[in-house]
Amino acid sequence: MPHAVTQSCVGDGSCVYACPVNCIQPTPDDPAFELAEMLFIDPAACVDCGACVAACPVDAIKPHLYLEESERAFLEINAAHFAERRDRPSLAPVRPRLRVRDRGERIHVAIVGSGPAAMYAAEEILTIPVADVTVYERLDRPYGLVRSGVAPDHRRTRRIAGQLERIRNHPRLTMRLGVEVGRDISHEALHASHHAVIYAVGSITDRPLDVPGAALPGVSSATAFVGWYNGHPDFAGRAFDLSHRRAVVIGNGNVALDVARILTVDPESLTDTEIAPAALAALRASQIEEVVVVGRRAAAQSSFTLPELIGLAATPGIELVADAAGVEADDHDPKLALLRELGPANGGRRITLRYLLAPAEINGAERVEGIRFTPQQLTEDGAPQPVAGSQHVHLDAGLVLTAIGYRGTAMPDLPFDEQTGTIPNAEGRVIDPATGEAMPRTYVVGWIKRGPTGFIGTNKRCAQDTVAALVDDYNAGALSPPARLASA
Ligand SMILES: Cc1cc2nc3c(=O)[nH]c(=O)nc-3n(C[C@H](O)[C@H](O)[C@H](O)COP(=O)(O)OP(=O)(O)OC[C@H]3O[C@@H](n4cnc5c(N)ncnc54)[C@H](O)[C@@H]3O)c2cc1C
Repeated sequence: MPHAVTQSCVGDGSCVYACPVNCIQPTPDDPAFELAEMLFIDPAACVDCGACVAACPVDAIKPHLYLEESERAFLEINAAHFAERRDRPSLAPVRPRLRVRDRGERIHVAIVGSGPAAMYAAEEILTIPVADVTVYERLDRPYGLVRSGVAPDHRRTRRIAGQLERIRNHPRLTMRLGVEVGRDISHEALHASHHAVIYAVGSITDRPLDVPGAALPGVSSATAFVGWYNGHPDFAGRAFDLSHRRAVVIGNGNVALDVARILTVDPESLTDTEIAPAALAALRASQIEEVVVVGRRAAAQSSFTLPELIGLAATPGIELVADAAGVEADDHDPKLALLRELGPANGGRRITLRYLLAPAEINGAERVEGIRFTPQQLTEDGAPQPVAGSQHVHLDAGLVLTAIGYRGTAMPDLPFDEQTGTIPNAEGRVIDPATGEAMPRTYVVGWIKRGPTGFIGTNKRCAQDTVAALVDDYNAGALSPPARLASA
């Protein structure tokens, strides 16, 4: 009875290191790891020992016989990954232990932010017996998007908070909640009391939609909507008008699917989740019957992942419909095959996926009443461009949410790359673009380092790389002792 990885996989690679026969791929040392939509178990090589089940922090791995009906597609997905890959090494990668030069002192590291990137960095640093970590978090609750982003009905994924809590409870970790670096304490002050400062501040804003009417009431970012239903203090006071029949979500990633699902799922199925009570009350009173999720490109270019699509298609009470225009016939692409199998709507609350439509204008007198799109076609290199002479497409809508990507913001006293919305760095060392030199004792990790990509677990590998750079610098004598010791 081999095992299969299912939807809630966060890609942290714990299972890879636990597996005695290296049957879980891709491994974190493989360049494919960062881009993989999930990890996969080779059914031909799995010895059914269950080590991966125990290692997975979010219960994503199940023996075949325990798969729910809606999860059986993952059997095929796991097996298909290995259909043409029989050349994997028989031994899983071994992570080298950090080797720290003994200087007869304790090492103090400050980490700014407490999301997964911060906590994985702390976990790695705490493997050094003489290291102490202080985590500074601007909110009064820790763990970043694990609490403020991951959808409340993704119960298994949210369990990763338990793993982060175990890291927090380490005796050499101090967490300072409600301290915003750059406002309550400066970069300079952190430097004065720590050998090194690691910024793990995430990507807290979103890319704005630049079309006329985007400022009308009723148009909002998915960031605000997600923050609202997850009780993020910055957004808890917001109100969303759900008294109209249709909402439109612009964007085609997993966040777009999350917000569409929360708007259409039976609110009673959310009662046992951590959803904000005000959001649950608003969803109970909601009049929304259809959410249209609109992408500028075709279905084959959708950035949502196959596991999320499977999960959405299996959500009770939601009809998922795909507009055939933009869904190419390609049975080798499991996403397209699934989209083409979807039935017509028959009257329930539904999510409609539409493609090849670029927002042109949001209409409304006092507030949003609808949105106008320009039909697109793809050029040979896959770029969308307007179809010459085509009619605009109009959709009535009382709520428009934009989910077109997250973006980092500048931190006081640190360089910032406006183009990518990240802090410029080389292997996690912050680089001053004026000189091309590394800023002393300053590092980055997570979304602010590499942009808003990957899963929660992707930040683990990212954190290990940054901490390896920090330790190299320490060993090379580049991290001078702080002027005054970190106050614990
Ligand atoms: C809506 C949404 C849903 C997602 N769902 C999933 C999912 O289901 N599964 C999955 O694997 N991945 C999911 N992800 C991706 C995952 O959440 C990210 O990969 C991960 O959270 C990025 O980690 P981070 O630590 O870089 O940033 P964050 O998680 O954003 O953490 C940054 C932290 O820094 C703090 N901070 C910011 N500025 C300061 C400051 N000046 N001083 C002190 N603290 C500060 C913030 O308050 C925050 O706590 C989702 C992402 C989003 C946006």
